[in-house]
Amino acid sequence: MQNKPLVEVKKLQKNYGDTEVLKEIDGTVMPGQVICVIGPSGSGKSTFLRCLNMLEKPTAGQVLFEGKDTSKFSEEELTTLRERMGMVFQSFNLFPNLTVLDNLKLAPIRVKKMSDKEAEDKALSLLKRVGLEEKANVYPSSLSGGQAQRVAIARALAMDPEMLLFDEPTSALDPEMVGEVLAVMKELAEDGMTMVVVTHEMGFAREVANEVWFMADGYILEKNKPNEMFEHPQNPRTKDFISKII
Ligand code: ADP
Ligand code: MG
Repeated sequence: MQNKPLVEVKKLQKNYGDTEVLKEIDGTVMPGQVICVIGPSGSGKSTFLRCLNMLEKPTAGQVLFEGKDTSKFSEEELTTLRERMGMVFQSFNLFPNLTVLDNLKLAPIRVKKMSDKEAEDKALSLLKRVGLEEKANVYPSSLSGGQAQRVAIARALAMDPEMLLFDEPTSALDPEMVGEVLAVMKELAEDGMTMVVVTHEMGFAREVANEVWFMADGYILEKNKPNEMFEHPQNPRTKDFISKII
């Protein structure tokens, strides 16, 4: 692991009108780290992820990416930032009118100006990586939820991101499909991908996360190594939350 932070969050605040969603968030993500973010519904986890890649503009505070203050980024730099921080959503968000292969080729061709051949080779190798080579020419509607999410991960990887943000990637899946998606994510982590993962999959967090952050009331109330977090939570709110999900 290199010792310069990839992302630093400093006194991040986000309001929607009068609602203070994020009050004061601080945190550091090092290259290669996997951070799992847990917390009650409505506590601001999705908002936090969207502030990391500036899909939402923070009300106050800063997000530094590789030491650079993203609030000072031009539109062009923001686009690049979002390419370098790929995002995977609960609901896959694949383009329904494109085949799996074309879903993967679209951004590399349009944004990275990759040749068709190069984008296709890359797409096929990524599909292989997530175990779905044989689905290249089908449309998303014929995929199971687990397959669709693996395609969504492959699509995010097609842009060669520096890090990936996952927003409850397995919450919309039937239970029998959760494992195949977590297995792909675990492999990415083992390959050194930096990841911030909002999830309630405690088994995954225990096995894969370097740190778990517990978010509630607009703050990160506790940060710890997974075993410490789950076995010896310090904050009463963390204790209460963990007792309900385990
Ligand atoms: P979580 O992901 O932890 O469930 P969210 O970040 O989705 O939480 O939402 C936190 C709070 O912010 C909720 O009260 C939600 O209603 C509110 N919120 C989220 N997005 C918006 C928005 N675009 N406009 C207004 N309120 C929002
Ligand atoms: Mg959410």
